Amino acid sequence: MSARVLVVDDVMPNVKLLAAKLTREYFDVITASNGSQALDLVKRESPDIVLLDVMMPGMDGFEVCKLIRSDPATMHIPVVMVTALSDVADRVRGLEAGADDFLTKPVNDVALFARVRSLVRLKMMMDEWRLRESTSGQFGILGGEVPVQAESVERAQVLVLEDNLLDLDKIIETLKRDDGKADAAETCATALELALAEDFDLVVISLTLLNEDGLRLCSQLRSHERTRQVPILLVVDEGDMSRVAKGLELGANDYVIKPLDRNELRARIRTQIRRKRFQDRLRANYEQSLSLALTDPLTGMFNRRYVGAHLPRLLERAADSNKPVSILYFDIDHFKKINDTYGHAIGDEVLREVAARASRNLRNFDLVARYGGEEFVVIMPDTDRESALTVAERLRRRISGSLIKVSAAVGAVPVSVSIGVALGCRQGDNAGDLLDRADKAMLAAKRAGRNRVIADPRDLSA
Ligand code: GH3
Ligand code: MG
Ligand code: MG
Repeated sequence: MSARVLVVDDVMPNVKLLAAKLTREYFDVITASNGSQALDLVKRESPDIVLLDVMMPGMDGFEVCKLIRSDPATMHIPVVMVTALSDVADRVRGLEAGADDFLTKPVNDVALFARVRSLVRLKMMMDEWRLRESTSGQFGILGGEVPVQAESVERAQVLVLEDNLLDLDKIIETLKRDDGKADAAETCATALELALAEDFDLVVISLTLLNEDGLRLCSQLRSHERTRQVPILLVVDEGDMSRVAKGLELGANDYVIKPLDRNELRARIRTQIRRKRFQDRLRANYEQSLSLALTDPLTGMFNRRYVGAHLPRLLERAADSNKPVSILYFDIDHFKKINDTYGHAIGDEVLREVAARASRNLRNFDLVARYGGEEFVVIMPDTDRESALTVAERLRRRISGSLIKVSAAVGAVPVSVSIGVALGCRQGDNAGDLLDRADKAMLAAKRAGRNRVIADPRDLSA
């Protein structure tokens, strides 16, 4: 994960120390020594995250943060406040003023990388949603008008695994202040059972259990499809940073240290709940907008319009990161004959099954669309020519591998496809040209006898 981090501090040794730590972990670091310089860099360099000192002469960190938040072009960039150790009030004020997180000086490595990585991961996911959303032509749900900070924190349902009654009380009380509801569990097994049965906004896991290791629950939650996305907040002892690091590696989102400070606990709980609700809303909006305008009712796949809008963006991104995008273009062989022999309705059944076979045999992040009547396009990000050919060949075999059951008297019909492959990775590669090259390769496969894969010969010399 190569992310760009902007470090802002008026004290040079502080900047140097943070920059050195981050560079060692392969982050791309830029620096500023005052507020206005920071704002300038935020605009020009669009960093993936900003580490912002609170105490600076002139404009202080709170003000810089507020300005970043108020500009629609920069408001989605995560901000971490860096505060003096003793200032609990400052930290909470920072969070409530729109910062995404805070770190205390001297900055501890586990905390630094935990918070930076988790926010960068979140931002990258948001960027992906933002890209998809603007593709679908539905603006304003993400970025601009409704930022994550505006999300409600009330009436959250939270699962708490904690066997220390005093701490459990503190957590439950904290939740009650936002009308939240807590389900308490005393063992990993009962907690997991609850988590699989209900939809929680957050799971709080203690790593100080007497008889068990809370990290077990952490890893179990991440391995079940149903709970993979639920935020996890760890509650830990001061001296236990190596296990915190382990928990974050397993996929926990954040941690708080005992003795629990009520305000910090509340701020961290609220942050996780907001992010969860924000993502849920994006997903729901996105799914709805897609099903309305950008999918094909017969097969449930994306349609031509979606490809036309999304492919250029994917190509831009691929050119920036220097990764290839491959395209498969396939067309059913002698499909007219199926229509002519059995009728259009049976033709539709065959189309649906071909689409289903294609979807089943592609990876999650490959995008498959019904591009025309019986023509399909598969877009494969980060896939070179050789892998694309392998996928195409497998697809061809899986589609033609068995007869397709139909409701006509014959019972089942054979089907095959001809597939063209083209690769796009150079700067300025154009979506239209790429589709055109894949289409031409597909036609070459038809001419060569059908039921085969042919790659655009131009990609060989690339
Ligand atoms: P080739 O191997 O050269 O591709 O031969 P083909 O018969 O498949 O020829 P062509 O691609 O030109 O024909 C496509 C046919 O697909 C023509 C059209 O009637 C039919 N078709 C297009 N959309 C649909 C649809 O939604 N349902 C059905 N049942 N048929 C469709
Ligand atoms: Mg055709
Ligand atoms: Mg055809």
